[in-house]
Amino acid sequence: MERREILLLLKDIGYKPRRFRLEITPEEMDYSGEYAVVGNADVLITVVRTDIGYHMKVEGEVDVRFVCSRCLEEYVRKFRFSDENILRRGAYSGGVSLKDEDVDSIYIDRDEIDVLPIIREIFISNLPINPVCSPDCKGICPVCGLKIEDEAEHRHEKVSGARKLGDFLQVALKEGGKK
Ligand SMILES: [Zn+2]
Ligand SMILES: [Zn+2]
Repeated sequence: MERREILLLLKDIGYKPRRFRLEITPEEMDYSGEYAVVGNADVLITVVRTDIGYHMKVEGEVDVRFVCSRCLEEYVRKFRFSDENILRRGAYSGGVSLKDEDVDSIYIDRDEIDVLPIIREIFISNLPINPVCSPDCKGICPVCGLKIEDEAEHRHEKVSGARKLGDFLQVALKEGGKK
């Protein structure tokens, strides 16, 4: 059965840090953006009580199917995400900055907190805007649309449609032979 919420009981947390290891399924992650979550996420939550509430650190990793922003090919890679939050007791009354230095505050009015939306938000906000399959991905050729793997061998002269197709096949064969 899928969990719709994962409650952390804060009243059990003291000044000694507590760690919780969670496995989050793609359904629970409930992400429906540009990429795809493939497999469960391993998430480690570290919580400790502080004078103003609790300090919570979330660290996770999960396989994500990205689309390379240069060559447009899909690739699956282990994606790590993390962030920290201050859980403050009492409702947010306004007037005070929500930011405590670089750490976001979450206001809590109960002895428990649902960590699933927090995990989701950290996952989404950590996703890269322009992912690349490899740092030296040369993208696709603006003439023939093929992935450029070897710039030196890949050239186009001023050519007719027929020649373009010839180049296309040549490169396709070359690429096919490599694999
Ligand atoms: Zn690429
Ligand atoms: Zn080309």
